[in-house]
Amino acid sequence: MAYSCEQLEQWDKQCVWHPFTQMKQYAQERPLIIERGQGSYLYDVDGNRYLDGYASLWVNVHGHNDPELNAALREQLEKIAHSTLLGSANVPSILLAKRLLEYWPHMSKVFYSDTGAAAVEIALKIAYQYWKNIDPVRYAKKNKFVSLKEAYHGDTVGAVSVGGMEVFHRIFAPLLFERIEVPSPYVYRMDEYGSEQEIVRYCLRELERVLEEQHEHIAGVIVEPLVQGAAGIIVHPRGFLKGVETLCRRYGVLFICDEVAVGFGRTGTMFACEQEEAKPDLVCVGKGITGGYLPLAATLVTEDVYAAFLGKADEDKTFYHGHTYTGNQLACSAALKNIELIEARGLLADVQRKAHRLTERLEALYEIPIVGDIRQKGLMCGIEIVKERRTKAIFPRAAMMEHRIILEARRRGLVIRPLGPVLTFIPVLSMSEDEMTEAVRILFDSIACLYGQMRGELV
Ligand SMILES: *Cc1c(COP(=O)(O)O)cnc(C)c1O
Repeated sequence: MAYSCEQLEQWDKQCVWHPFTQMKQYAQERPLIIERGQGSYLYDVDGNRYLDGYASLWVNVHGHNDPELNAALREQLEKIAHSTLLGSANVPSILLAKRLLEYWPHMSKVFYSDTGAAAVEIALKIAYQYWKNIDPVRYAKKNKFVSLKEAYHGDTVGAVSVGGMEVFHRIFAPLLFERIEVPSPYVYRMDEYGSEQEIVRYCLRELERVLEEQHEHIAGVIVEPLVQGAAGIIVHPRGFLKGVETLCRRYGVLFICDEVAVGFGRTGTMFACEQEEAKPDLVCVGKGITGGYLPLAATLVTEDVYAAFLGKADEDKTFYHGHTYTGNQLACSAALKNIELIEARGLLADVQRKAHRLTERLEALYEIPIVGDIRQKGLMCGIEIVKERRTKAIFPRAAMMEHRIILEARRRGLVIRPLGPVLTFIPVLSMSEDEMTEAVRILFDSIACLYGQMRGELV
């Protein structure tokens, strides 16, 4: 390496502002500087290796440094890296759109972008303009969006507008457009509402009440299908997604699914909507789309939505939106190869099998009294840490309990991230069973270690 670890650490702290990071805290800690990756492992500049328990922020599918993905990228690179999609086309973006639509037979067009937040932003703008294009007078008031409590759909201002996470979103409130919040079936914290199915019924009743009263003011409902990821891996009980779809149809509002976190095999099927046969009007994909190689996202729409944008040049029905790197060839060829490999390697069946084994292994964590709830869908897991199991009270934020647990896990060779009081384990999808067993062992030891320290601090 050209530079010493100390030099890089110094420059990192001097020059880089890290996302979602309290930099004052960061400045006091040893940064993790990754140099390379291989399979399920990340290697830092000191040569230490870590199991990638966050799939490099929920994106990695086949492991790092996959020879076939590398080759596909090299092959594309020898042709061209990028040309614009504004007014011209390119080969990989055509092939990828066709491929994506094979998974969504009821949809008809793919609109590319480069991040999940942009895919959401695009879905919201399309949904809004859809009504105006159809009938600007009749639908003049259809301007609002409905989203779930604790919703997270990305960090641009439009995506934040449909967000519902206090900590992330509160400060920006004066900048945002209006959103209507409805409850989400967060079973662990809704004891007073009864059984899972009673909770689902309650949430759907609330959504129905909102739609009944205000559908004339509502353009669409946006949800993360099956699992609210950033909210803390809130796994929705069966029937909720389908229930939302049914209500959207009944009250004439668009049904938007944000598959950015759950898409591309994460929950055991290629897309989460498949599990409830949900057919959204708009769907957003991102994160795992390139197997974790390059930034790419897309918004898929039905023919009905698309057709509303067709008109003469002076009719102003055009969708005036686009990003400079839209349809980038390198990103699209990585995505094409990723999808091909998911199929060729039988990854979905593999994820389902491994998820099943993982459930058994995670059970052991309940031996530690501060483990309040373990939630899982496919290879998406959340472990909610509580101060006291009976009251489900969480640790004060200043205690940084979850942060201390993840630092402990890192020392032991596993990288994971906390979301508030929830530790998330979102492994590289191709992680082997042995590697996952090791990851769960480290998780156990790290949580137990902090539990021990906590008891020590109390006496
Ligand atoms: C990560 C995420 C986004 C935002 O994607 P970025 O690529 O980070 O902009 C949007 N929606 C969901 C559900 C996500 O998990």
